[in-house]
Amino acid sequence: MKNEVLIQPYGGSLVDLLVGREEALQLTKEATELSSLQLSPRSLCDLEMLAVGGFSPLRRFMNRAEYLSVLQNMRLPDGTLWPIPITLPCSSATGLAGKRIGLRSPSNHLIAVMDVEEVYEREVELEPQLVCGTSSDDHSLVAEMRTWGKYYLSGPIKVLELPQHYDYPELRLTPEQVRERLEAMGNPEVIAFHTRTAMHRAQEVLAKRAQQSVAGSLLVHPVVGVTRPGDIDHFTRVQLYKLLVDRYFDPNSTLLSLLPLALRMAGPREAVWHAIVRRNFGANHLIMSRNYAAPENTSTGQPFYAPHEAQEMVLRFSDETGVRPAIFDDLVYLPDDDRYEQSTRIPKSKRTLSISSHQIRNDYLAKGKLLPPWFTRPETAAVLSKTFPPRCRQGVCIWFTGLPSSGKSTVAEILAILLTEHGRRITMLDGDIVRTHLSHGLGFTREDRDINVRRIGFVASEIARHNGTVICAAVSPFNSTRNEVREMAGSENFVLVYVNTSPEVCERRDVKGFYAKARAGEIHGFTGVDDPYEPPQNPDIELETVHSTPEQNARKIIDWMRERGFIEPLFDEVEPDHIALSIQPELGAGI
Ligand code: ADP
Repeated sequence: MKNEVLIQPYGGSLVDLLVGREEALQLTKEATELSSLQLSPRSLCDLEMLAVGGFSPLRRFMNRAEYLSVLQNMRLPDGTLWPIPITLPCSSATGLAGKRIGLRSPSNHLIAVMDVEEVYEREVELEPQLVCGTSSDDHSLVAEMRTWGKYYLSGPIKVLELPQHYDYPELRLTPEQVRERLEAMGNPEVIAFHTRTAMHRAQEVLAKRAQQSVAGSLLVHPVVGVTRPGDIDHFTRVQLYKLLVDRYFDPNSTLLSLLPLALRMAGPREAVWHAIVRRNFGANHLIMSRNYAAPENTSTGQPFYAPHEAQEMVLRFSDETGVRPAIFDDLVYLPDDDRYEQSTRIPKSKRTLSISSHQIRNDYLAKGKLLPPWFTRPETAAVLSKTFPPRCRQGVCIWFTGLPSSGKSTVAEILAILLTEHGRRITMLDGDIVRTHLSHGLGFTREDRDINVRRIGFVASEIARHNGTVICAAVSPFNSTRNEVREMAGSENFVLVYVNTSPEVCERRDVKGFYAKARAGEIHGFTGVDDPYEPPQNPDIELETVHSTPEQNARKIIDWMRERGFIEPLFDEVEPDHIALSIQPELGAGI
């Protein structure tokens, strides 16, 4: 279909790297003989965007000249504005130049073939500094770059098949498909709404107001490729966008489409790049609020970019990109007028209401409280409360560490009973018992013991992720491995319990006779005798077992968990009125 109404793609026409069916079959056969490169999720997104023309006029991952030019001047060597390197990392360069290789998805599907023309070393120091404006690992992309291969590959690409998406295929529209639908709406003005978060009333009002301001069509264009670490999963978000667009937006002038973009969170440069990408999808306006495309603040709470930096950069280059920013400040709610207004336009005397994302999680979702209708649509409140159940219904991993015979299993067993009494269903992963199945065949070398702990950690994290309760009791002597399992399980829902019993007491108890065997030299590398135990520096709970009984210690853990909302009070401890209240959110979530 010819574009007559909309702005032309960046560079004049949409790139299309997909080969015809015949050629694809031929190349697939050929590819069985080729060496192949397995792409990261990020590179796969980049490849998909290249393939469908989302990155027009780019036709390939950048070569060194293009890469350096983009880094230094934000332009391709021919002068075309392009602010973000699109490159393909690879860890080994040997024997690749001049060869045809297969590019495969993380699940090993052949997506494309590439004739490698150039293999070059990436600028490890310069790139983060120039793209993100920082070399700090606090920036998510900078930290990720450290894990990339040392080389970049470039060369012509033939795409055999687009990456398969089984989720929401009807919403995954290529630039050409988006353009067709926008053309049909008949309006040359198209404003794109970029998002990677849930859409609350403020964002809805912002999108509608921005749409009005340009009297155009609205392209709701959420990113579902790689987003900021810690973002809400896209399954939840897409449910929300669909509900909202179906119910609260004008179907004649609104289009929802999912964008498989891998975000860099590179602030100003990123924003200009988004503008170019949106132009390829037919938009000539981009909605921008403060802190557009910003990563999380630094570890000391400082933002990486000034609040309006991205907006200003998009404005500065808007003649070249053809995309104008629709600039808005944060919207806040005025309860007395029942309306939203930009924070900079509100008289000081006016009462305002807002809820931060921290408050959403901690004061509402974690406590099972529905978000109020002035803040978000009831559909959004219901979907979010289902995705983020209150703490007492979230998974949790209670991890006991301590010397052999310190009392881990003894306390853990009592804790399991008390937690069951409080309505949680328990999986117990006791270090010794686990060794009969999960870790059968492993010995007691440091390596084997680490593997044992990691296996327990892996199973525990799966259980916790699915809202189960798991108690692990394993000596787990090393800080580094304990930290690893905490990360696996998600540190918010991981409780490290240090059973601090002295080596002498443990040896006197010697439940399984191992201390005696170690002393007699019958076994070697036994923790507490001839192998080290690193006491945790910041355990969540520390237990003393000489003066406190096992039951007292188990109850201490219960109290700790109760204070933090991991368990609800027993029904006989609650006034009848409150019982009704406490189950209401569950009903709300089911609406
Ligand atoms: P671990 O699992 O740490 O190897 P166990 O729980 O199997 O240790 O063994 C601890 C031993 O110490 C048990 O025989 C238990 O009865 C005894 N014990 C004595 N006092 C305590 C206490 N306060 N807490 C836990 N265990 C205790």
